[in-house]
Amino acid sequence: MRNNLFELDFEELRETVRAWNEPEYRASQLWQGIYQNYWKYLGQFTNLPLSLRQKLEQQFIIGSLKPENVLESADHLTKKTLYRLVDGAAIETVLMRYKERNTVCISSQVGCGLGCKFCATGNMGLTRNLSRGEIIEQVVITAADLKTNGHTLTNVVFMGMGEPFQNYGAVLGAIRVLNDSRGFGMGARRFTISTVGLIPGIKRFTEENTQINLAISLHAADDELRSSIVPINKKYPTSQLLAACEEYIQTTGRRITIEWALMDGINDTEGQANKLVSLISGMLVHVNLIQLNPVAHYDGVPATDHVTHKFQKILIEAGIPCTIRLRRGIDIQAGCGQLASVSK
Ligand code: SAH
Ligand code: SF4
Repeated sequence: MRNNLFELDFEELRETVRAWNEPEYRASQLWQGIYQNYWKYLGQFTNLPLSLRQKLEQQFIIGSLKPENVLESADHLTKKTLYRLVDGAAIETVLMRYKERNTVCISSQVGCGLGCKFCATGNMGLTRNLSRGEIIEQVVITAADLKTNGHTLTNVVFMGMGEPFQNYGAVLGAIRVLNDSRGFGMGARRFTISTVGLIPGIKRFTEENTQINLAISLHAADDELRSSIVPINKKYPTSQLLAACEEYIQTTGRRITIEWALMDGINDTEGQANKLVSLISGMLVHVNLIQLNPVAHYDGVPATDHVTHKFQKILIEAGIPCTIRLRRGIDIQAGCGQLASVSK
């Protein structure tokens, strides 16, 4: 089977070229072709000698994701693509257009094994991790698509299917490749990793001390409630999770985003808001509220607008920055937690 060029980092590509006794700058030409020109076929590399192109064609392909279904929201601002992978599994990727930003929400796993009650991906269970190349390709295809319409991709968020810290090596590896200034060159600050709170992952990420943004899916301010909706909380309880967050903040000096999906009567109460205030007061955090997006298997209901604003007010009055996230792509099941590859 031919190898996928998206699976290589620059050094591996350089080694391949060197082993063929080709000058090293050929690796740069290939890297630029893929990551700057978004060429999809080796035939497009007319800047390479024919003999090299033929050798590459025998051994490599560029990309393995097959777009199978594309849904666009009624307002045309959100687009969800289902990709078929080489082994027949499928993932979803979502492009969100804003006034000043174009953000792609990408997947890190096929499904997810952590089973948060309110999440459609969690309901699927885990099939497998994505490879580094499969993660990278979601971003490059989206950037290429935007470019043909005269737009630029500005942000990448790991908020699609899967738990990024359960696939740590591939996720960080993909960001490193996309960050490489010889190629795609997207700044580390333009990436956000969202985690359900896997403490070993947070610690490892802290040690790397990068400029990548970190978001923590908290959703509840005490262990009893959190464990009932986010089962992994039984293994990594709230107090230990917040201690790991504080250590991250102290080491990196970077602000963490706390994510909170507001569910009517469950975690949208004044009691939860007040508990949250005491948990995170004084920490360098920002709270992002999102009214629950409906999913078929869960009967939780989104918090009302009135209650959502009240919750926000409690945080803001306590000096904690808090925003309400715009719900996007709900009509095409492209909102947070709505991604599941069974949809066709
Ligand atoms: N596994 C990671 C990233 C993917 S989920 C994580 O859990 O953080 C991205 C975000 O969507 C998380 O904050 C998650 O809690 C949230 N989410 C899941 N289901 C949701 C739903 N039905 N409505 C709103 N947000 C949801
Ligand atoms: Fe997995 Fe995140 Fe969904 Fe929880 S919210 S099941 S961690 S994808």
